[in-house]
Amino acid sequence: MIINNISNISSNALCTACGACAGICPSNAIEIVTNTAGYLAAVINTKLCIDCGKCAKICPSNPENKPSIETDDIFHGVCLAGYVGCASDNIIRQRSQSGGIVTALLCYLFEQKEIEGAIVNNLNPETKRPQAVFASSMSEIIEASGSYYAQSSVVKTILEHSDKKSAAVVLGCQAESLQLIREKYPNINLPTYTIGLVCAGQYSGDMIDDLIEQSGCDGEKISEFRFRDKRVGWPGDVHVKTPSGDYWLPKERRHSLKQVYELHRCMVCYDQMNIFCDIVCGDPWGISHKQNPEGYTVVIARTTKGKKILESAAKDGAVILEELSPEDILRGQTVDGRHKTKFYNARDIFREHKWLFPYPDDDFNNIPYASVENKIKMQGELNERLIYTRDLYLTPDREEYLRKIILKKKELQGNILRHLKEKIKRFGRVILR
Ligand SMILES: Cc1cc2nc3c(=O)[nH]c(=O)nc-3n(C[C@H](O)[C@H](O)[C@H](O)COP(=O)(O)OP(=O)(O)OC[C@H]3O[C@@H](n4cnc5c(N)ncnc54)[C@H](O)[C@@H]3O)c2cc1C
Repeated sequence: MIINNISNISSNALCTACGACAGICPSNAIEIVTNTAGYLAAVINTKLCIDCGKCAKICPSNPENKPSIETDDIFHGVCLAGYVGCASDNIIRQRSQSGGIVTALLCYLFEQKEIEGAIVNNLNPETKRPQAVFASSMSEIIEASGSYYAQSSVVKTILEHSDKKSAAVVLGCQAESLQLIREKYPNINLPTYTIGLVCAGQYSGDMIDDLIEQSGCDGEKISEFRFRDKRVGWPGDVHVKTPSGDYWLPKERRHSLKQVYELHRCMVCYDQMNIFCDIVCGDPWGISHKQNPEGYTVVIARTTKGKKILESAAKDGAVILEELSPEDILRGQTVDGRHKTKFYNARDIFREHKWLFPYPDDDFNNIPYASVENKIKMQGELNERLIYTRDLYLTPDREEYLRKIILKKKELQGNILRHLKEKIKRFGRVILR
């Protein structure tokens, strides 16, 4: 299928809403809207569209696009060095998601006058959704620390600030759009530094409303929302702050909503490890000596520029870094086991359903992946999840959408109960944590 604009991407539930298309469109014909199912999606106003095809050329879900990279293993990417560490500044570390390395690096670049500001995300208290903003002071950068696991149109904001010397914090899909823009439109000024986040998937913004409601404070003005607040110790619980008080939800409640609100496109993304950025940062999963309540960040330097800035930030005392092999980081993120298996299974399922697959068809043929046993174990469940998320994304009616959400929650609760009963049958008792 030849794709001339991004309308086929949204109609196949493949839009991540990175916003590259809206930012590059010369006739302002593309808008990122919230669809009936609460997902952000790019929509074309056909009256304004001049058929230039620019949007299709830089969309990371267009199967005709293949950004170049100097590595054969696109699941790992180029790994120049690996580290685990934290921000030296305690305030930055405490506010941050993991160890605060991302925020500390942005502040360091700002202090060194390497950048005029940074593209980061904060919460819009009116919409209760994350929004990408250009932060032009240290305090704005620090205020925007922490992760929002819901969609945000980061590349659109980057393109709106292309006159500035900046650094940007990006997910894999966003870094991929930037690489496509770099290759196809080299005259566009892009951020000098891209700090990537490891990403196993985004959710619709409706997950935030659901968590706020479950916290017991629906309807109140929200001054802060954190998917994972470390004040109770890393990895953190859901925290909603309002003028009248603080509301907390245990992390298990957030986990129980993942399969309700997950984004279809993210389930068929190979780029968990964000291979197109200068530096990628993530949680220290699987790094046993860093499972600490104060939090650490794992880091892989992907470019020479990224490695240099990490080394000088460590030398000047902005961050504390300990070397850690990239292999350990990749193992901790279960890239070769769980992630690759999920990706290849999803590819098979896309083929079976004849859905538009977001990458060139024969890509990924020569990369070895996990055992057949793993594959069989995962395929049934993944098929159901993919069918549900695609159907949900494309639901035309809000009431129908709400019915689907309620049904899904019941089904998942039923699964948990069945699981517990099976365990009790096998082991005699279950210890609930
Ligand atoms: C959608 C999503 C999925 C993730 N999945 C994983 C995962 O599977 N495994 C893992 O190890 N880590 C994952 N992370 C990364 C992790 O949550 C931390 O961001 C990372 O460990 C860096 O921690 P830090 O303390 O150094 O970052 P901080 O110093 O807290 O800085 C985080 C920066 O990210 C920016 N940001 C927040 N939300 C977004 C967003 N949606 N898009 C772009 N920028 C944003 C903030 O504005 C801030 O500048 C994910 C993050 C996101 C946003």
